Amino acid sequence: MSDNCLFCKIVSGTVATQRIYEDDGVLAFPDIAPQAPVHVLVIPKRHIASLDALSEADRDEMGHLLERTAHVARLLGVHEAGYRTIINTHSHGGQMVFHLHCHILGGKPIGAMVSR
Ligand code: AMP
Ligand code: ZN
Repeated sequence: MSDNCLFCKIVSGTVATQRIYEDDGVLAFPDIAPQAPVHVLVIPKRHIASLDALSEADRDEMGHLLERTAHVARLLGVHEAGYRTIINTHSHGGQMVFHLHCHILGGKPIGAMVSR
């Protein structure tokens, strides 16, 4: 856990959320400002600041995050119609929260490339 990290506080329960899915490694919860009818964030429980902070040692954990993201999309019922996954990295990528997270956006056609 990283001090003053919002998503670490969500993992620990200090900041409340709807825990859509969790296991030992990941947590999925609704985005507080949804950009689509379905907008969920899937995060590693361990504090990782961004995609840019990853190293080879994180491969298994990130494989788990991606596979569980697909699982959460199936739980949400957006898997057949489809959905978009986004990971924003650093300033030009539009990253606002520096705890790695994968957006799931769906429930309507998301359209061409969008920032979020
Ligand atoms: P990003 O721009 O990729 O860093 O996205 C951060 C996302 O976190 C944004 O879509 C915010 O709406 C979302 N967010 C910020 N605070 C919270 C919160 N307390 N609970 C859920 N989502 C949040
Ligand atoms: Zn964190």
